[in-house]
Amino acid sequence: MTTTAAVTAHADRLWAVALALHRDPETAFAEHRAADRLCAELAGFEVERGVAGLPTAFTARHGSTGPTVALLLEYDALPGLGHACGHNLIAAAGLGAALAVRDLRPEGSVLVVGTPAEEGGGGKLTELAAGVFDGVDAALMFHPGAHTWTWAPLTAQVELTVTFHGRAAHPTGDPTAGIDALAALIQLFTTLGAVRPRLPAGAHVQGIITHGGEATNIVPDRAEGRFGLRAMTIGALEDLATQLTTMANAVATATGATATVARYREPYHHFRHNPVLGDRFAAHLAAAGIPSTEPTPGVFLGSSDIGNVSTVVPTIHPFVAIVDEDQSDHTPEFAAAAASDRARTTMLAAAAALAGTAVDLLTSPALRAEAWAEFHRAAEAERR
Ligand SMILES: [Zn+2]
Ligand SMILES: [Zn+2]
Repeated sequence: MTTTAAVTAHADRLWAVALALHRDPETAFAEHRAADRLCAELAGFEVERGVAGLPTAFTARHGSTGPTVALLLEYDALPGLGHACGHNLIAAAGLGAALAVRDLRPEGSVLVVGTPAEEGGGGKLTELAAGVFDGVDAALMFHPGAHTWTWAPLTAQVELTVTFHGRAAHPTGDPTAGIDALAALIQLFTTLGAVRPRLPAGAHVQGIITHGGEATNIVPDRAEGRFGLRAMTIGALEDLATQLTTMANAVATATGATATVARYREPYHHFRHNPVLGDRFAAHLAAAGIPSTEPTPGVFLGSSDIGNVSTVVPTIHPFVAIVDEDQSDHTPEFAAAAASDRARTTMLAAAAALAGTAVDLLTSPALRAEAWAEFHRAAEAERR
């Protein structure tokens, strides 16, 4: 039996799962019914719920000792928009690939990893820290989108909280005693505006004010902003974080306030592309009737916790289109497309290509060695 036939045997069931998730969207870390649904489909797998201390995370293993290929399932939706990122299709395709590998019984094992909260919180970071990916030879998933690209140009990203501490005073009764923390924070935004044109390609800072004072008859003694930083590489991101910290401290010196800079959570790493596995997936996808291209140079599609997975194990995260190139995810139109006929075709083709890549990896020590060699080559290039 071919991998495509093995997926096709489950086609109606997989589409029913995709539609059930779509009809019942749950947001980050609250994907309880989605986790129930997916685990219920994994007959013959050794299922473990609540891994890494996350109630909606799970793993499911099938097979013996030997090589292990992980299939990653995302299933969180967006607040108010439902499955506008198409994670219902990621889950169904990963499930389909896992069932196909189970039925084909190659050597080694397949590890299904249910990864909550891609859209907020980054469940994969917690799972990585808990060792869920230890001993895994490759991590495979696909993402629906507006393009069919062999890999995902995802930037590194971190959120910083900047707090200015000043001194409260009556603004008219005793103005010289006050140090206006809000004025310092606004000055930081102004300074950022002056620096922004010089930021390197792919670098971006978006700030919001999360606290600006208590009342208009008190000089604000505390003001807080949150800044989302993105850069093409994790190294460039650290440089950008240092630059913002320097600006905050300089503004503090100039205004008499003090500044503290804290990380809201650990950074998302840029995606480390593995062409050995990416090309293998693309070949299987082409055989299923969907040709891929390389990403358009200079176009970035946000950031994801899959970036961090890609730094510990050879990883693929190709995009396969369910809408035309002039459309975008995170829209009501994309949510509708995630339950369309095109979504069904795409999900089944992606499942077959994931299954084909997984079986290739499990049956070919040479392919595993090549993928790891490529992984280490890319890691070395990042250090230079
Ligand atoms: Zn998204
Ligand atoms: Zn997504």
